[in-house]
Amino acid sequence: MVVGVLVELSNKNVDKIFDYKVPKELEEKIKIGIRIIVPFGRMTVQGFVLEIKNDDNKYELKEIIEVSDEDIILTGELLELGKEISKLTLSTLISAYQTMLPKALKAKRGRVINKKFDIYYKLKKDISDEKLTAKQWEIINIILEKKEILRSEALNISTSALNTLIKNDLLEEVKKEHYRLSYNEEVLPKKELTEEQKQVVSLVDLERYDTYLLHGVTGSGKTEVYMELIEKALEKGKSSIVLVPEISLTPQMVSRFQQRFGNKIAAIHSALSDGEKYDEWRRISRGEASIVIGARSAIFAPLKNIGVIIIDEEHSDSYKQSDMNPRYNAKDVAFLRGKMHNCPVILGSATPSLETYARALKGVYKLLNLPHRVNGKSLPNVKIIDMNKEIKFSKGHFSKELLEKIEERLQRKEQCILLLNRRGYSSFVSCKNCGFTFKCPNCDITLTYHKTSNTLRCHYCGYGEKTFDVCPKCGEKALSNLGVGTQRVEEELQKYFKNSKILRMDYDTTSKKGMHEKMINAFKKHEYDILLGTQIVAKGLDFEDVTLVGVINADTGLNIPDFRSSENTFSLLSQVAGRSGRSSKVGEVVIQTFNPNHYAIMYTKSHDYIGFYKEEMNIRRALKYPPYYYLVNIKVSGKDEKEILNEALKIKRALQRNLKSTIILGPSSATIFKLNNIYRYNLVLKYKKEDNLTSVLEKIIEHYKSKVKIKIDIDINPSQML
Ligand code: ADP
Ligand code: ZN
Repeated sequence: MVVGVLVELSNKNVDKIFDYKVPKELEEKIKIGIRIIVPFGRMTVQGFVLEIKNDDNKYELKEIIEVSDEDIILTGELLELGKEISKLTLSTLISAYQTMLPKALKAKRGRVINKKFDIYYKLKKDISDEKLTAKQWEIINIILEKKEILRSEALNISTSALNTLIKNDLLEEVKKEHYRLSYNEEVLPKKELTEEQKQVVSLVDLERYDTYLLHGVTGSGKTEVYMELIEKALEKGKSSIVLVPEISLTPQMVSRFQQRFGNKIAAIHSALSDGEKYDEWRRISRGEASIVIGARSAIFAPLKNIGVIIIDEEHSDSYKQSDMNPRYNAKDVAFLRGKMHNCPVILGSATPSLETYARALKGVYKLLNLPHRVNGKSLPNVKIIDMNKEIKFSKGHFSKELLEKIEERLQRKEQCILLLNRRGYSSFVSCKNCGFTFKCPNCDITLTYHKTSNTLRCHYCGYGEKTFDVCPKCGEKALSNLGVGTQRVEEELQKYFKNSKILRMDYDTTSKKGMHEKMINAFKKHEYDILLGTQIVAKGLDFEDVTLVGVINADTGLNIPDFRSSENTFSLLSQVAGRSGRSSKVGEVVIQTFNPNHYAIMYTKSHDYIGFYKEEMNIRRALKYPPYYYLVNIKVSGKDEKEILNEALKIKRALQRNLKSTIILGPSSATIFKLNNIYRYNLVLKYKKEDNLTSVLEKIIEHYKSKVKIKIDIDINPSQML
């Protein structure tokens, strides 16, 4: 037997199939999609079996060393999917396969995650003739009743009784895997759908592949619609995938699914340990869990027979893997799997991405609408506060009006959510005298001040230094902490409202395992009056008593040099506004901004998605951006600034020679020009149709693949332009 093997090495030069001979004694363990260990040059490496061939013994082939897995790791479908992803993203096939697997299954020598087992005992033979002691009977009776007994339970009854039963060959040991996570099996009765919800559900054809856009305002009951579709799939014996952005994959969201579907769900998110992820992955692959809820990578869940794929908050840029190869979009993968399983893909959002909405209007996607909130109330009233006027009266971060409205809520024992928009914004130290700011010596980035350790840190490379008392440039004692951290706003808020209870939720306070859940439960139980946080409070939360949402600084996202900054701002503000008044009480929203006339803010006020869409589309058309044009970003990076600029110019000339109708911009320095001592230039391609493009890009990759000093990263349909 000969097998075709793809080895787990990242080098582009070895991203192809190598043949190996299989020794006779290993033949029966060989299956397509399992991993094996093979000699490779002077190394031994792990690889995937992709082909099994008839042994014709034409060449001298090396033999495989051992077989790593008992079960197939990559099913036929996933093997195909990897090939498609590699084509779509121009990445190596092995990087696609590695992305599809949980970390615990990725090749890293010496790091094995153990499975955990429980030991049970069953009866080995008929015991009616046996003479048993009372304690022994006690054990046997439990087995007769439940078919088996857990070892620890039997030991509790009597160690010697158990040992005797084993010694007399009456019991058989059974090992069962013990998963690290467990879900409550109990389910709650489901809600009766509204007419609008029923209508939407009835429009989805579960028997065939199609993409639907579910455009529903915040609180319109989209999640209930998802669950109904999942249940219908389940009735047909089919499984489902629900993707949500990591940030809205809250314990609240998971528990809603758990209450409806019990232990049929598997939830995959970043708060799980590697071992827990590994267990969840195996529960799915064995068919023990049939509803997978997770962030981007959950789209690769090894489910069989998928009946529906749901992508909630479809506008979120978290579905695109931007930081490493393969730079895939989970939406594209969903479409591929939808086709393979012949099932619908549902994209849901209150603020769909422009690309998606444009496709829905064209009829490429089927448009489903939920224009009303379930509670029958209108969307909350939004008040815009011009901070240019306020700043004269107030030194802090709060306008008089927002403070008054918070006070009102405290009086009425209702709750508030306050958003501190920190995207592209953090606390940094600067000299008031000369304007000096501390920058990372390795990266072109301002250092962030950490109060607890009193240090300045680079959030990209981890560089850190102690803070100074005096400015290193002018020597004045004029350093001050600029930028707003949640901690500082919390301190300020506590001064205004001495007796109120404030819950601060940001990356720092929620990173400890279980904290996020604890905080949400505590807020729900009214142990706090105000929830203050970063983007983490904007999405997916559903609290009955929240009647005021305040946005402390709406503008930070508008200043990001990205053509999507208005879209992202509109969408974030609409999302957070949607947290207010979700139940019987009327909600209100206050947005503080220095740009009260910006259209992203004005349309948030009027809850006018279509208005925003039209205005933004005009801008996109004029500036030749998506959805009118497609984009490709080519990042050229290396240590020698001059050399990479030259190389980027060379690439540009080659592109100009070979592409007819593509606009080529740059090279321009990346937003973060220097990262970890590596300089970075971008070339941006804009095109509508360019038949040659893939082959030209492949040639560029091919040309640079063995150059060590210059790195080329190609991002097709990038989600951000940094
Ligand atoms: P969305 O996902 O569109 O923001 P949700 O599905 O979270 O909306 O629904 C908003 C609130 O309304 C939730 O508290 C949910 O439990 C409730 N809800 C949704 N559908 C119904 C229904 N048919 N009957 C009663 N309550 C519902
Ligand atoms: Zn750095």
